[in-house]
Amino acid sequence: MTSQGESRARFGVPADAMVFARSVRKSYGSLDVLKGIDLTVPKGSVACIIGPSGSGKSTFLRCINHLEQLTGGVLLVDGEFVGYDLRDGKLYEVKDSLLCKRRADIGMVFQSFNLFSHMTVMENLIEAPTRVRGMPVAEAKASAEVLLARVGLSDKAGRYPRELSGGQQQRVAIARALAMNPKVLLFDEPTSALDPELVGEVLQVMRDLAESGMTMVVVTHEIGFAREVGDDLIFMDEGVIVERGEPREVIANPQSARTREFLSRVL
Ligand code: ADP
Ligand code: MG
Repeated sequence: MTSQGESRARFGVPADAMVFARSVRKSYGSLDVLKGIDLTVPKGSVACIIGPSGSGKSTFLRCINHLEQLTGGVLLVDGEFVGYDLRDGKLYEVKDSLLCKRRADIGMVFQSFNLFSHMTVMENLIEAPTRVRGMPVAEAKASAEVLLARVGLSDKAGRYPRELSGGQQQRVAIARALAMNPKVLLFDEPTSALDPELVGEVLQVMRDLAESGMTMVVVTHEIGFAREVGDDLIFMDEGVIVERGEPREVIANPQSARTREFLSRVL
C-alpha cells in the first residue's frame, strides 16, 4: 500500500478530506498553544477560522504545511502526512526534497504579503514554478500572465512590489501562490495589514477563488466574508476549537458565551 493509502486507512480519513486534523497538539516548552484540534476541511470547501489574538490560529496554519512539527496528534493533507511517510505502521521523516515538493502543494498567503522585493511581479510569479517544479520559463510566464489577468493585474507584470498598493501586492501574492497549482490555499489574516479601502479587492479575488472550487483555510477577522463565502466557521480560543458550524448559524446564534463575546467585539 502507498503511504497515502495506509494513512487514509489507519486514521479513517474520509475520501473527500483535504485537511484532516485529529487531536493536534503543539507546545513550545511548557506553553501549550494547540490543545487538541479536530478539524476536517473537505475538498472544494472554505473553512474560516476566527478567534482572539494568541489563540493559536497562525500556529495551526503553520502545522498544516509542516512549518511547525506537531507535539501530538495527526495532521494529513490530501490523505498524507506532509513531513512523514507511513510504512507498515511506522512514521519516517521524508527527505527535504520531498518535503519541499509536498509543501509546494500547499499555498500560503500571509498578512504581510512577503513578496520578493528585489524581483518584479513576473519574476515573483515564475520563481517557484521554475525553481521547485522545473517548469520552463516560457511556460511559467504564460501561466503567470493568465494568473495576473485573473487577479486583475495584467498591466503590472514589470513592476516591483514597492510600486504597488498593499491590495495589489496581496493580489500578486495570491497569484504567486496559485502559480504552484496548489491543492489547498492557507490564508493568514490576508487583509489585516491593508488600508480599509483596499480590503474589498482582495476579498473579491478570494471569493472568485472559492467559487472556482479552491479548497481554502482562511484565518480572518472579516466576518462578512466568512458569512458569505465560508462553508464552515470555526471559532478558536486558547488553543481549542470552541465552536464550529455553518457560518450564518454560528454568527446569528452562537452557542458559547466566549463566541458571543468575541463576535460582539468584531461585528
Ligand atoms: P494567533 O495567530 O491566534 O494570534 P499564534 O498561533 O500566533 O496565535 O500564537 C499562539 C501562541 O503561541 C501565542 O501565545 C504565541 O506567543 C505563541 N507562539 C507562537 N509561535 C511561537 C514560537 N515560535 N515560540 C514560542 N511561542 C510561540
Ligand atoms: Mg496569527
